[in-house]
Amino acid sequence: MDFLRPMSWADALAARAEHPGALPIQGGTDVMVEINFDVHRPDALLDLNPVRELAEWDTVDGRLRVGAGVPYVRVISELGDRLPGLAQASRTVGSPQIRNRGSVGGNLGAASPAGDSHPPLLAGDAVIEVESAARGVRMIPATEFYLGVKRNALEPDELIRAFWTDPAPGPQYFSKIGTRNAMVIAVCSFAIALHPAERRVGTGVGSAAPTPRRATAAEEFLAAELDWENRTPLAVSAAQRFGELVKEAASPIDDVRGTADYRRHALSVMARRTLTWAWNDYMGKSRKEAS
Ligand SMILES: Cc1cc2nc3c(=O)[nH]c(=O)nc-3n(C[C@H](O)[C@H](O)[C@H](O)COP(=O)(O)OP(=O)(O)OC[C@H]3O[C@@H](n4cnc5c(N)ncnc54)[C@H](O)[C@@H]3O)c2cc1C
Repeated sequence: MDFLRPMSWADALAARAEHPGALPIQGGTDVMVEINFDVHRPDALLDLNPVRELAEWDTVDGRLRVGAGVPYVRVISELGDRLPGLAQASRTVGSPQIRNRGSVGGNLGAASPAGDSHPPLLAGDAVIEVESAARGVRMIPATEFYLGVKRNALEPDELIRAFWTDPAPGPQYFSKIGTRNAMVIAVCSFAIALHPAERRVGTGVGSAAPTPRRATAAEEFLAAELDWENRTPLAVSAAQRFGELVKEAASPIDDVRGTADYRRHALSVMARRTLTWAWNDYMGKSRKEAS
């Protein structure tokens, strides 16, 4: 097996174009497991670790551009205040070793419906920047990036460069159900993001359909229901209806991790719970501003 080691983004794109059989590797926490279990026997590995651009993040015109290779540990330590929902999800990924190596770009590359970064990326309106040597940059909204189980919108000659998202304009939360507290693939997961200036709600449902997805009917219901102006307490009936609509957005399967019925039930609970946390934060802020 060949090992390709481009030293720049331009060289990485050239290598991707020249070696269509080469498998990109960033942290290797998915790739190496699959090679060890003989799931893949690629002609070559395309090591993206020396490409400095992938390990950087920046703010451009007020929006965050986070390199695909930034590992979870840095999302938590450097971006936790700006992207609290993604940071919360990152804290649930694997173990400290996995969070040191694993990256959001790798999660996007693997496109598992259970990947923990996907729900907060969806809830936060993230856009994925991909590029090829031949056709240049494409900006793909997260809603259009996940095409099927472990299938994404990348063309064979493209690499993921970064994801773009706004620094959290309001409270964001993530919740994940697993069979234990750490080192666990989600049975199902849920993310919420409030966008108060636009009077809008974002959601992301994980591990409960062939792809991560938004619960759009739940978002629309809640956006109209919340008293954004006066920040009055949330009606129990509204939280319950939101949970029901999130549950209806899922199309889970029975598998070794959980039944479809359990997943639906758990989603409605996580939706109510994260909404309550987020709305309490929003109301608390109003009290602080008033005092
Ligand atoms: C013990 C263990 C526990 C885990 N726990 C979790 C968990 O709790 N939650 C979770 O979501 N995941 C978990 N994972 C899976 C894995 O850690 C994540 O999916 C991680 O985000 C992968 O990132 P990586 O940088 O290691 O990707 P890699 O393994 O390097 O790559 C993953 C995929 O993305 C592709 N890829 C990588 N970078 C690019 C790029 N720039 N452009 C195009 N394609 C690219 C690769 O070709 C490959 O297909 C776990 C894995 C292990 C081994």
